[in-house]
Amino acid sequence: MFHYLLPSRLVVFNTLTRKTEPFRSLRRGQVGMFACGPTVQGYMHLGHARTYIFYDVVARYLTYLGYRVHFVLNITDVDERITDEARRQGKAPLALAREYSRYFVEDMAKLKADSVCRFEPVSTHVDQMIEQVSLLIKKGQAYVVGGWVYFDVSTFPDFGRLSHQSSRELSLRPLELSLRKRNLLDFALWRPEILVQGKWDSPWGRGSPGWHIQDIAVTTSLLGPQYDLHGGAYELIYPHHEAEIAEAESLTGLKPFVRYWVHTRLVNMRGEKMSKSTGNVVTVRDALRTYSADQLRMFFLGRHYRKDMDLRGIDSAARRFTRLRGMAEKALRAAGGASKESDEELLGDFRDAMNDDFNTPLALRVLGEGLASAVNARSAVAAGCKLASVRTAGKVLGVDLGIG
Ligand SMILES: [Zn+2]
Repeated sequence: MFHYLLPSRLVVFNTLTRKTEPFRSLRRGQVGMFACGPTVQGYMHLGHARTYIFYDVVARYLTYLGYRVHFVLNITDVDERITDEARRQGKAPLALAREYSRYFVEDMAKLKADSVCRFEPVSTHVDQMIEQVSLLIKKGQAYVVGGWVYFDVSTFPDFGRLSHQSSRELSLRPLELSLRKRNLLDFALWRPEILVQGKWDSPWGRGSPGWHIQDIAVTTSLLGPQYDLHGGAYELIYPHHEAEIAEAESLTGLKPFVRYWVHTRLVNMRGEKMSKSTGNVVTVRDALRTYSADQLRMFFLGRHYRKDMDLRGIDSAARRFTRLRGMAEKALRAAGGASKESDEELLGDFRDAMNDDFNTPLALRVLGEGLASAVNARSAVAAGCKLASVRTAGKVLGVDLGIG
């Protein structure tokens, strides 16, 4: 199905430089990518769905371009929120985390977000985290106080580079208020056992790893010390991703830790951010009772990933999908059978859209126009070629129009 089109003309907006840059992978023909997965204390909601469907399309498109893509998504199964929810439900925290991890993977499959090569629970990497924290202490970039280990931000002058904040701006947003810390922005790498459910032995006493070190342990073991693309929701830029850079680059001395930082914007409901903490959520399970996975994908991909979106548009997106599906049926009749040849012009337009920082709204428009021109084509052969290209585009977007 997929062609080899390397080197590509893809450009990607990089949060790190705030510029749209040509995409070049570290290793020719290969892409290592990672996205921050969910904290598994509840069902996946539509805010998550937008993020993960987008990175699924990124991985599919890079694969289409000819890259061998290794896409890792972590599952945060060590977190206070899990402990709290487990207490509410009267369950053991790790059992609860395991249960919701399973639901998450099931929901991803239902959404056809199937390009993830590996779902990695962070709790399986605590040994590496302990090693990494020890190394940071040895390098003088982290310190121990009463069972806590903190990263000493003053040892990393680049802190603030990803979120584009000056030291003055940063000083107005202190992290993790505590009298134990040397600097306002120091963040925990290790916490004593009182805080969360996991209890691991460490040189600093029993406890559990801080949030920001968890992804580093996962990615260094699965993707190496440097990789191509790190994704996640926009609100994770600071402090989470900023802290990841500080940890990883301090550990390895290699810069940049990640080449392209790519962030998705919010999904709003009634004008407010969809978030579990405010109860303003629709779960994927509930949404799938009303809409098909294709309709949901159409809805999310109908808006550029760097723009906020509101659930209000979901019904019109669902109708649009049904319309396209009807057109596809007509086009299939006009073609009178499957064509092996693609319409290169149509595929070129599709690639132009996707090469422009994954412009999926435009790519969907190209797909719709392709269907219309297939319906109105002068010959069955011409209709068949258009349809073949639409089929390829549909596969990259993971939208099934019923044309094979
Ligand atoms: Zn993360």
